[in-house]
Amino acid sequence: MKDTIVLYPALGSGHLMSMIELGKLIVTHHPSFFITILILTPPNKNTLSPQEQYIASVSSTFPSINFHYIPLISPPTTLPPPPLLTLELSHQSNNYVHNILQSISKTTNLKGVILDFLTYNASKVTTKLEIPTYFYFTSGAIVLALFLHYPTIHQNATKPIKDLHTPLRIPGLPKNISTDDYPDEAEFFLESAKTMRQCDGVIVNTFDAIEGKANKALNEGLYIPDGTTPSIFCIGPLITASYGEDENECLSWLESQSSQSVVLLSFGSMGRFSKAQLNEIALGLEISEQRFLWVVRSELDLEEQSLDELLPEGFLERTKQKGMVARNWAPQGAILKHDSIGGFVTHCGWNSVLEAICEGVPMVAWPLYAEQRLNKVILVDEMKVALELKDSKDGFVSGTELGDRIKELMDSDKGKEIRKIIFKMKISAKEAREEGGSSLVALNNLAQLWKQKKQPSMAN
Ligand code: UDP
Repeated sequence: MKDTIVLYPALGSGHLMSMIELGKLIVTHHPSFFITILILTPPNKNTLSPQEQYIASVSSTFPSINFHYIPLISPPTTLPPPPLLTLELSHQSNNYVHNILQSISKTTNLKGVILDFLTYNASKVTTKLEIPTYFYFTSGAIVLALFLHYPTIHQNATKPIKDLHTPLRIPGLPKNISTDDYPDEAEFFLESAKTMRQCDGVIVNTFDAIEGKANKALNEGLYIPDGTTPSIFCIGPLITASYGEDENECLSWLESQSSQSVVLLSFGSMGRFSKAQLNEIALGLEISEQRFLWVVRSELDLEEQSLDELLPEGFLERTKQKGMVARNWAPQGAILKHDSIGGFVTHCGWNSVLEAICEGVPMVAWPLYAEQRLNKVILVDEMKVALELKDSKDGFVSGTELGDRIKELMDSDKGKEIRKIIFKMKISAKEAREEGGSSLVALNNLAQLWKQKKQPSMAN
């Protein structure tokens, strides 16, 4: 019987696509494993369709990766954003997951299940069935450390973490992290963090050369003073595939630009701006006098508006020699690989950060949601590969501030310095994934562990 690992990703492209890459990585280096990926079916199936196409292509290229769609059991009355939707749907799906895991174990050696922190509820099933349970953390090691430490803070705090407004001294962390930089949803993830503390291992999409200190401290258990710590496997950087590259206008336009001359502005799958903020971005681009490629995403109620209606009057005409504007989405991974890109204004989503590191592209950090404010602190203060953007309390950024930072990034000694640092990281990223590199060694250790594990009894 073949050895099988089951992967159970969250909805939302940053989580789902990254988990699929993990599956590809496992079968590429350890072809004796068979992978089953459980996919939650969202109520509005259309939102997934480019990913479904990608999933179909992975299925045909990797015969040992099998996708299994979990049917929608009870559609939610409102459609929340992907993280909340995942929590809701995965809570409903435990019986189904139980049956599927039992059925997989009848025909293969089920060696482990890998969960996302948003599908943590399935650990009730894996624990009951005595299947080794792992997590795949799609952010970095420092954020993982804060996440695992969170139950300890919560236990000792007298009020919600966001109301503490205090720097936290956490053992092993590179610097104090202000509670203001914690994600807004922190309280929400308490149960997930507690579950992760008890699991058999956490696989992290990072690598030693950029987060070695955090990885070491995680392995020494410094972040969990009151219990055992799961084993940590830093196997990154795993870069998600970029689709829609064929005959893409942005990529054709980059062909006609000179080396490292263009700044990319792109804000992840959920980064949306008001009309007032879009106006300031446009102003900032004009102030910066740099060439640019801007992926424009507006708030949902402005979705119907054309770029002409959305952006300041005459902006597109005035900047047509200097810039390119795409509506909603562009193949970011392929764009960052292009030699014409010289800088990246990013919302600091971890996938975007890794894509920039792998291509040696320096950044301006503009965090918007989730754990991105923490990522910004890491990028600016610890790794020194990004410039910080000053915003007002409600997150609004002025055109002058954005314009000045873009200019500094593209055309100053400080910009040159961070370009040098990130270029070195690009080389380390490549080395980590080569034979004998830290990430491949971690993956091999994990595979070895799985091979030694006995098939669970499935008595229940
Ligand atoms: N992405 C893309 N085109 C876009 C916006 C995003 O290809 O217009 C990709 C990006 O390259 C990255 C992923 O979507 O791989 C976003 O993940 P990230 O962790 O950066 O942010 P999230 O969307 O999860 O907040």
